[in-house]
Amino acid sequence: MTLPLTTTKSEEIFASAQKIMPGGVNSPVRAFKSVGGQPIVFDRVKGAYAWDVDGNQYIDYVGSWGPAICGHAHPDVINALKAALEKGTSFGAPCLLENILAEMVIDAVPSVEMVRFVNSGTEACLSVLRLMRAFTGREKLIKFEGCYHGHGDMFLVKAGSGVATLGLPDSPGVPKSVTISTLTAPYNDLEAVKQLFNENPGEIAGVILEPIVGNAGFIPPDGGFLEGLRVLTRENGALLVFDEVMTGFRIAYGGVQEKFGVIPDLTTLGKVIGGGLPVGAYGGRRDIMSMVAPAGPMYQAGTLSGNPLAMTAGIKTLELLQKPGTYEYLDKITKKLSNGLLQIAKETGHAACGGQISGMFGLFFTPGPVHNYEDAKKSDLAKFSRFHRGMLERGIYLAPSQFEAGFTSLAHTDEDIDKTLAAAREVMSSL
Ligand code: PMP
Repeated sequence: MTLPLTTTKSEEIFASAQKIMPGGVNSPVRAFKSVGGQPIVFDRVKGAYAWDVDGNQYIDYVGSWGPAICGHAHPDVINALKAALEKGTSFGAPCLLENILAEMVIDAVPSVEMVRFVNSGTEACLSVLRLMRAFTGREKLIKFEGCYHGHGDMFLVKAGSGVATLGLPDSPGVPKSVTISTLTAPYNDLEAVKQLFNENPGEIAGVILEPIVGNAGFIPPDGGFLEGLRVLTRENGALLVFDEVMTGFRIAYGGVQEKFGVIPDLTTLGKVIGGGLPVGAYGGRRDIMSMVAPAGPMYQAGTLSGNPLAMTAGIKTLELLQKPGTYEYLDKITKKLSNGLLQIAKETGHAACGGQISGMFGLFFTPGPVHNYEDAKKSDLAKFSRFHRGMLERGIYLAPSQFEAGFTSLAHTDEDIDKTLAAAREVMSSL
């Protein structure tokens, strides 16, 4: 790849896009606002790679923000989709594919005895909150600073992802009357959660969290944190909800709950279970899920929910993930990447910290350690921006924000990791 990167067509298309779509995008972080510079307009993706409209090729560590765990456009997924297309694109009626994916999710995810499919992670989280409230008859919710649970009003309090990236404290248009019921605590701080329960006796419906954070950068739970939340929620008659939209079928086949053996009452899923098509899901204990309409009184619905194409892509993706060695491979290559980046940072004199679990990783430009969002915010954002641009120019596509985790896939090879580390060495040497 020649430097500087030629992005003439990306520039033209993005300039037009800005006139017809807010910020030129349909989801904020894509606009590269936090790293500055020209966003890349994609033309196609395959395996571990993405190509832009100017013909540049990138090793992709965003993977459509998580779904592309088998590599983009896996031939088995594409072939299954082609066959499914012939039978129609939407039924709006029961179909066998829903049973198949539901059974796969129930078999895999320890907390899930029944599941409802929706069309996005946002929808899954909005629905699960209604269910938490319906089941407990309580209104208040505890969430953690820097955790993102989609763009529902009551979650846009100290939220991560694009909200963190753009420095929006909250969002205009979110009524105070809604967020007044959202209580927040720092991640990994059990004492703060205990205090909130003590101050609001009998009022808290439940606690929702990313059991490994991705939306404030990659932050794993401290030992005992998830277990402590399990105990505290039980003691207070509240529900524990793991938002595994990002971590489900990525950290392990059964998600973080399988990996760490802490079983929540309810779980939200998305990304991987749709194999690159729009899917979300929420599920959990049978007694709680039985409240969802039409089995019970809690209303939630969707025109395209259980869509046959989305179900097909999800089924094929989960089948591919069931092959022996999947998570060992993801862990191996991601460890090589993460350790390599930390080593290069050290050798080139940059304070950095980070880590990985399975195919999810992060690197902060701060000495760390990072236990929560406040720690993450100490990162050198200007340095991250220069690092991001340098990597992009060398054909490495990283998430365009310090506050987003990175993702690998089964299609990433040792050679891809070597190329990435060689690029990182060049860039960090010149930062
Ligand atoms: N929860 C988590 C943990 C997420 O990472 C995301 C999206 N990144 C969401 C919810 C929202 O999902 P979606 O973008 O599909 O609405």
